[in-house]
Amino acid sequence: MAIIHGQKEKGDEALKIEDKLLTKGASHGRSGKAMVPKGILIHYVGNPGSSALGNRNYFENGSGGACVSAHYIIGLQGEILLCVPETECAAHAGKSFAPAYNEACKTNNSTLIGIECCHPGADGKFNEATTKSLVELVVDICKRRKLNPNTDVKRHYDVTGKSCPKYYVEHPAEWTALKAKIVASYNSSSSVATATPTPAPAANAAANANEPSDWAKDAWNWAKERSITDGTEPKSTVTREQTMVFLRRALIKAGITL
Ligand SMILES: [Zn+2]
Repeated sequence: MAIIHGQKEKGDEALKIEDKLLTKGASHGRSGKAMVPKGILIHYVGNPGSSALGNRNYFENGSGGACVSAHYIIGLQGEILLCVPETECAAHAGKSFAPAYNEACKTNNSTLIGIECCHPGADGKFNEATTKSLVELVVDICKRRKLNPNTDVKRHYDVTGKSCPKYYVEHPAEWTALKAKIVASYNSSSSVATATPTPAPAANAAANANEPSDWAKDAWNWAKERSITDGTEPKSTVTREQTMVFLRRALIKAGITL
């Protein structure tokens, strides 16, 4: 199984994401329609004790005709499965459950990254392993996509009125606490980044080392958008092993399996 690594700060253990992309095609919940993510939506699977892979296969097999999907599913052991690339639409938040949300629902699926979380009980509460991975994944996405963990991370309930994720709709204080955990984790890893010495103003050459050359800007931003590179050190030399990692990321993003 292919493992994709997220873009955590240097020195941290890389976030492990298993590549379990759905087959392209609307009947598998993967339309292939391009998307620029503007936020993250948290869901619960609504099926107590079910596994991440089981839910992924439910999407793959057409989900009983409902054609639903999400970008990620986090399992009871904290495993993270990637089902739909972040730059493609998934079908997780299009239906309004109250008239007040009708208008917003037209764009939910074309702007939001959906994360489904497994849960052991009928109350829908996430266990510790799932919560830990959820926090790490959300922080990772926020950093890569330049999203604000305070304002751009929401419950399915917040945009459609559906009771999802159930436990965190029925216990708003628990949702507040989960959000606080995400923001704290985001801020603490940001402080690592800001601790990197800033180049002195006189050192123009060094400062330019952090900016891609004009002729390479388009390609660099393209690769950054797709998480093929983490967007750091554009002018550093690359090793043979890094080349293979970049190559594989690009192929996986393109949906090509060799
Ligand atoms: Zn939901």
